[in-house]
Amino acid sequence: MAELCETGTSVKLARGYLHPDDESAVQWCWDQVKPSLEDSKKMNGSILVEQRVDLSSVGLNVEGDPERCRIDLAIIVGEVAYLFDWKFGEGYVPRPKYNWQFRMYALGLVLDYGVKRVIATKLQPAAAEAFRRTADEFSDTDLMALADRVREISKACASPDAPLVTGENQCRWCAARDTCPARAGAVMGMPMHLGVEDWFRGIEPASRTDFYERLLVAYDWVSRARAHVESFILDGGRVPGFAIGEGRGSREWTDENAALVALRSIATQVGRNPESLLITKMASPSQAEKVLGTSKPIKEAMLPLIQIKPGAQKVVRAEETP
Ligand code: SF4
Repeated sequence: MAELCETGTSVKLARGYLHPDDESAVQWCWDQVKPSLEDSKKMNGSILVEQRVDLSSVGLNVEGDPERCRIDLAIIVGEVAYLFDWKFGEGYVPRPKYNWQFRMYALGLVLDYGVKRVIATKLQPAAAEAFRRTADEFSDTDLMALADRVREISKACASPDAPLVTGENQCRWCAARDTCPARAGAVMGMPMHLGVEDWFRGIEPASRTDFYERLLVAYDWVSRARAHVESFILDGGRVPGFAIGEGRGSREWTDENAALVALRSIATQVGRNPESLLITKMASPSQAEKVLGTSKPIKEAMLPLIQIKPGAQKVVRAEETP
């Protein structure tokens, strides 16, 4: 996307190695931003691609990490900034007004470029239709008030008695996540003396949310603790009662061609069809695209042959409401 925004070339030329599914996601994002880029050129706007904003004045110290605070695309026309950020994952990403990353990017544009309004757009091609493109507007006044709040939070975080507030999102990126007592406490605080299923059904909905959030933190802590312990053992560390063992092996032909000749002969001897030994399988739509290409006529010809089956149901975070 960055290359596209800079060069304006076609999606395929920009990244010849894109997987067809990714290509359509990039194409969709490109279709969303292209009109704004074209308009900005007519209006002599400034186009910023992967531009880093400086948030050190509000206490967000990202020195030494050049990947942080990098806006995918910002277009500045006069006192208005149009901010775009694309999310290629499937997981829940809140819309800009509920999303600290967007709010901080918008603040960065106010601080660095002196804009008065920021129109922030989240582009997430894999999200459900209603949440694929969500946009919110911020004023410089709102953002400067937010800057004061962030300064206070940053200052409070630096205090030795800062409260530890666990949560899937904030803990995932925290450098202290393996040593944080609050995360370990989330494991210890599980209601182990109760049958969770009946107890969970009986508590208030808000308490269910609280419990599930704590469960996610505890689960992550346990998974990471297990990975650390297992890597200690695999590196030769001593844990009495445990040792390095072999995983389950798999059987493979030593020489497929020679095996096929031999097996065909055996099949004939036992009265079975030798051709049953060769299993042919229909290519998936993605594999067929790799063979046939993804030109427009091929895509059009394939379209009526493909059905989208819904994936297995899973729990996702839901869009927040005010
Ligand atoms: S790991 Fe601990 S310190 Fe880090 S964000 Fe989570 S609760 Fe806060």
